Amino acid sequence: MFVPISIDEFVKKHIKTNPSENAADLKASLTEAADKKKNGFKCSQCGQPVWAIGTAIVGWNGCFTCITGEADCSEDYEIDSVF
Ligand SMILES: [Zn+2]
Repeated sequence: MFVPISIDEFVKKHIKTNPSENAADLKASLTEAADKKKNGFKCSQCGQPVWAIGTAIVGWNGCFTCITGEADCSEDYEIDSVF
């Protein structure tokens, strides 16, 4: 299971570790990706529901496994509004 996080909280964390990225752009991408997940978008590789955070960061519709290559998402975040 993912760890739920709000968009604002995730942006704060991500910008802290990636200071060169733009917080407003990231927030817009996350909002868009969360909407995609709510609207039932599927991973373009395997057909699982998209991972909103990963989709926002990599820029294509993907699930956790296809984006990260890992099966265990227990320590990774997902936007709380899409649970
Ligand atoms: Zn996938």
